[in-house]
Amino acid sequence: MTIAVIGSNMVDLITYIDRMPKEGETLEAPNFEMGCGGKGANQAVAAAKLGSQVMMLTKVGDDIFGDGTISNLKSYGIDTSFVEKVPGTSSGVAPIFVDSSSKNSILIVKGANQKLSSNDIEQASDQLKKCSLIVLQLEIPLETVYDAIQFGNVHNIPVILNPAPAVKNLNFELIRHVDYFMPNESELEILTGFPVQTAEQASKAAKLLIDQGMKNVIVTLGHSGSLWVTESHTKHIPAYSVQAVDTTGAGDSFIGCFAHYLNEQKDVVDALKMATAFAALSVTRKGTQASYPSADELKEFIK
Ligand code: ADP
Repeated sequence: MTIAVIGSNMVDLITYIDRMPKEGETLEAPNFEMGCGGKGANQAVAAAKLGSQVMMLTKVGDDIFGDGTISNLKSYGIDTSFVEKVPGTSSGVAPIFVDSSSKNSILIVKGANQKLSSNDIEQASDQLKKCSLIVLQLEIPLETVYDAIQFGNVHNIPVILNPAPAVKNLNFELIRHVDYFMPNESELEILTGFPVQTAEQASKAAKLLIDQGMKNVIVTLGHSGSLWVTESHTKHIPAYSVQAVDTTGAGDSFIGCFAHYLNEQKDVVDALKMATAFAALSVTRKGTQASYPSADELKEFIK
């Protein structure tokens, strides 16, 4: 019943500044924080916090961030046997600057994440074959994502693909074989080339993917909830009305929680409802992984 997350890890390096420095200028910044992130790691942590057995296939650099990432994943009980350190490569990092009006500028250095290859899937294949769900995103090389989908298909393991960050030229012939395709509004818009501003437009754009052979498209719509679209129906799951303070990582929390409940109970609507509650709780708190609730907090919230 293990969930395999094949994806990225990043360390967020957040500097709080009054204003952006000009060219050549050195400024003192009032505050600095570090946090573990990366879409793959976030989703793995969300599922693990709810009690799933999770193994993660990812790569880190041979630097302090790599060690920190491995111990962070371990602290949530995630199996890191297949987390490899790549000599001479930096870890994935995201230097983030947040100014006094909360506007941010973000740089992404994928680092070792770019070295996660089909060979790594091959090396972990004995363990991966025993997993009951594979969860993928797009912060690792596309070839690796395609091979992971194929691996899932060949071994009858359901595959969730969160096509984030958005990539225009995905090979649709390969990705249409995933079991659950889970974009947010802007990812769906970029992928299909159709506007996705409303739930109705999201449903139309998702239907296009269904017409081309996808089984389940689940679109997240921020505070407007989510849509589950299949050949036979479109179901809207409304979001909870909460006071959002930080929506960073909301999509990852939603997907990690959905993966946990889908893997446990196999009921899509129930899993979507739990994911909606989990993500709602997460946006009421600051931080990414740190904002994800425990199983007990989630139960208390939906009472
Ligand atoms: P992403 O982080 O990928 O942009 P979304 O913003 O669509 O993802 O959020 C994912 C899910 O989190 C939504 O479907 C919703 O259930 C929940 N969510 C996001 N923002 C809010 C909010 N302001 N209030 C309540 N729930 C939210």
